[in-house]
Amino acid sequence: MSSNPTAAKTLNNDDLIVVTGAGGFIAGSLVRYFHDSGFTRIRAIDKKPLPKWYQNSPGVENISMDLSDRENCRRAVEGAKEVYNLAADMGGMGFIERFRVECLRSILINTHMIDESYRAGVERYFFSSSACAYNTELQKDPNARSLKESDAYPAMAERGYGWEKLMSEMFCQEYWAERKMKTFIARFHNVYGPNGTWDGGREKAPAALCRKVIESMDKGDLSISIWGDGNQTRSFMYINDCVRGIDMIMHCDKLIATPINLGSSEQVSINELVSEIEQIAGVKLERHYEQGPLGVGGRNSDNTFIKQVLGWEPNTPLREGLTKTYAWIKDQYYDRKNGKTTPAGEKDDF
Ligand code: NAD
Repeated sequence: MSSNPTAAKTLNNDDLIVVTGAGGFIAGSLVRYFHDSGFTRIRAIDKKPLPKWYQNSPGVENISMDLSDRENCRRAVEGAKEVYNLAADMGGMGFIERFRVECLRSILINTHMIDESYRAGVERYFFSSSACAYNTELQKDPNARSLKESDAYPAMAERGYGWEKLMSEMFCQEYWAERKMKTFIARFHNVYGPNGTWDGGREKAPAALCRKVIESMDKGDLSISIWGDGNQTRSFMYINDCVRGIDMIMHCDKLIATPINLGSSEQVSINELVSEIEQIAGVKLERHYEQGPLGVGGRNSDNTFIKQVLGWEPNTPLREGLTKTYAWIKDQYYDRKNGKTTPAGEKDDF
């Protein structure tokens, strides 16, 4: 997947790359991407204990520590040339609508990470922002127009999670404006793929719906529960596109301190997403619509800017990515059912 990394233009193979949140979904895949691209010094950090990490790449320095603590951030970035900060307390709508305090507290991670990176002389610093930073007023309708980068202001971000992202973006912009550290900011739109949370309460719609389809087939009840009326729309980016995009954005000097969308522009409703998964599974389920946390009515990524700057946009077709994701979750489900230990989603009760 990563035979031609953009990072190779500015990094030597033995320069130290630091990735935070590496026990989780996207950062774990980013570590693997750099490892498979031939980079030999990678430090991967997450607050979760190592046996709970979704991926472990060989030869990587894996550290379990809490990066909301400043001293730990100092240790984390020592000797680093590039830092990718993806650590955050996050999850799907079920998590971010219920645990706003935890989402807001992720500001401690970026505040300490960026300052310690600056003090350590880090050359490039990446922050994973989110489409939740966009003005929610523009996203009420399932047919709302796609979001372009300037739509974040005037600001009315998702409460908690989105405001944390917006403030952390501003930290990145000011560390460049005042202190000349090169920072890079991508606003991810829903990312999905293997090796991410699929149970426990933090999972996002694609993983949750794959699991529900697998469960209902296993139990033989052939029904599925869907939050809301299923007409809410989103776009979903496959994980390989996400890590490739992070690499390209981080090594493009035109994008210093400039938030950019990183997402698919293939918009689907939740009902359509369920139909895709049903076709992959070869089943048709009875749909039950129930009350649940919905998030905004409609959201899609306007990719005009990324196509203009990088000549590229995330392009894995939903069916292709979902097929791989479904197969991985099915394996995890049956491995666990058969008594094998698999990384489980965090159970939250603060
Ligand atoms: P994830 O939950 O799988 O991974 C995040 C990791 O950060 C977790 O493993 C968690 O243990 C770790 N973490 C949390 N607090 C920490 C702390 N104090 N110290 C060290 N580690 C800590 O989530 P993900 O989907 O891989 O998301 C990665 C990043 O991308 C996050 O910043 C998230 O907000 C952002 N993002 C993700 C999506 C998506 O669709 N997955 C969309 C938009 C933005």
